[in-house]
Amino acid sequence: MDQSKQFCASTRLNAKGQIILPGFVNTHTHIAMAAFRGASEDVQDRLNRYIFPMERELVRPELVYNASLYCLAEMLLSGTTTFADMYYFEDEVAQATQKAGLRAILGETVLGQPAPDAPRPYDGLVYAQHFIAKWKGNDSIVPAIAPHAPYTVDTENLRKAEQLAIELDVPLMMHVAEMDHEHTRFSQSHGSVINYLEAIGLLNERLIAAHMLYVDDADIQKARDHGARVAHAPASNAKSGRPICPAWRMMKAGIKLGIATDGPLSGNGMDIPGVLSLFPKLQKTREGKREILTAKEALRTATLGGAEVLGLEEQIGSLEPGKRADFILIDGDDFNMQPIYDIYATLVYALKPHNIQDVYVNGRPLVEDRKIQSFDAEETKIQMKNIRDTCGAFIAAINSR
Ligand SMILES: [Zn+2]
Repeated sequence: MDQSKQFCASTRLNAKGQIILPGFVNTHTHIAMAAFRGASEDVQDRLNRYIFPMERELVRPELVYNASLYCLAEMLLSGTTTFADMYYFEDEVAQATQKAGLRAILGETVLGQPAPDAPRPYDGLVYAQHFIAKWKGNDSIVPAIAPHAPYTVDTENLRKAEQLAIELDVPLMMHVAEMDHEHTRFSQSHGSVINYLEAIGLLNERLIAAHMLYVDDADIQKARDHGARVAHAPASNAKSGRPICPAWRMMKAGIKLGIATDGPLSGNGMDIPGVLSLFPKLQKTREGKREILTAKEALRTATLGGAEVLGLEEQIGSLEPGKRADFILIDGDDFNMQPIYDIYATLVYALKPHNIQDVYVNGRPLVEDRKIQSFDAEETKIQMKNIRDTCGAFIAAINSR
């Protein structure tokens, strides 16, 4: 029997000539950092010399809200329907996300030094508790806790964050094995960063580990055995001059892996098509094998794979009965798209953000004919110019140091 006859649709879409896909899932971002995109590029130790001071001085609730909404416009117009974010004033990120209509996992960052919304080290834990209590049970936003990294949060507070995650039953997101000094330090003390996380009880199914660059095959097995999930950010990693993440090896081992842009300061472009194309190219380069990581496998990481990483695979990530209507419509007839012989190859290697015409989350049109419907996107451009005016002098001063 024709199942469509059982239902009476309130809206019918004519998608003739278009490609329909599940919305993209971006598994690691800091969207409010759109405020600083392009500042302090091409320098050493950018995190301590530039990013932390810039954030302490400039990050305020209003900036986080406005920069987040601005960034969400770019993400929506490039087909992202779900993302994971960790930053400060995460409540402002949540409010911007709710306004824009995307689905998200949002974690307050915990840091072992004063942070924009935490005057004392580790006050982020207190903020996180309130934040989680406020958003727990929300239909589209899953609150989380996000200790910054093993090298910026001490063992005692990592354990506290984990305890909180268990008690409140939320995911824990963290940068893992991203830095060379982190790798050196924990290799000396525990053999590897992964061994350290295992020893202190953080390596488990709750962990969404971003980056995972400095890991060997034994670490990969261990992460797999403990059920840790990985957010892989190929463009951001490539710009940092660090080793290429062994993402294909992790997938082969059975680790759940999704792709990510990282924040706009690290990854610059917030569109998934941009990183989706780079992902298999870098893995083929790393392994010296053209045939590995097929376009079909790569596309899966940007949709269902990402949903699995975020624990949302029963709701989103594929188009099937019973799941939420999070989908995008793509113009398959544009100059960069034809001819199509292998739809997966086209979508992974040729797709550009401007090919994405409509974006739906939970059946609600957020983008129609490349125009954002859920908020005034032009107004966010004005807000971003104001942010640039406010932050410009401070950024110029640290750039000239
Ligand atoms: Zn990050």
